[in-house]
Order: sequence, then C-alpha cells, then structure tokens
Amino acid sequence: MILFFDLVIFVPTDPVPSPSPTISTPRPSPTIHQLPMVYVTESGEKYHRPGCRYVTDSAEGISIEEAEYQGYTPCTVCDPHP
Ligand SMILES: [Zn+2]
Repeated sequence: MILFFDLVIFVPTDPVPSPSPTISTPRPSPTIHQLPMVYVTESGEKYHRPGCRYVTDSAEGISIEEAEYQGYTPCTVCDPHP
C-alpha cells in the first residue's frame, strides 16, 4: 500500500509550520540594477528581504545601503545580502 500523505511539502527550517502555503511569494526582479530594496520595521533592528515573514504592513522599504548606515543588521531568517 502506498501512502500519498507523506508528500506534504514541509519547510524544515521553520520551527512553526505556516498555516498558509507561500505559493505566490513576491521576489525582486533580476533585471533591476539598483541596490536591493530591503524592509525595516519600527521595533526591529534587522533589515529584511521583501517577502520575509517578519516584514509587516508597517515596514519601511529602504535601500540596503541606507539600512546598514542606520545601524540595521541583516535578518538571519531571510538573510539579505548587498
Ligand atoms: Zn527577515
């Protein structure tokens, strides 16, 4: 007997399984020559890629250069790089 129930997609790095599948994850366009846009939150000290689970509706989008200038450090979850 074959069990098809084992074919559930699972994210091993996420300690809390997300209730909703992230199928339509937005990703930055590869054709943009500008510095990558990152997002910072009012209460946080990290900057994030677009689509990171820590990015909220109130997050502010700035350049990665500006984020580092303001003392933000890269998020360890979404791992943004210059
Ligand atoms: Zn992040």
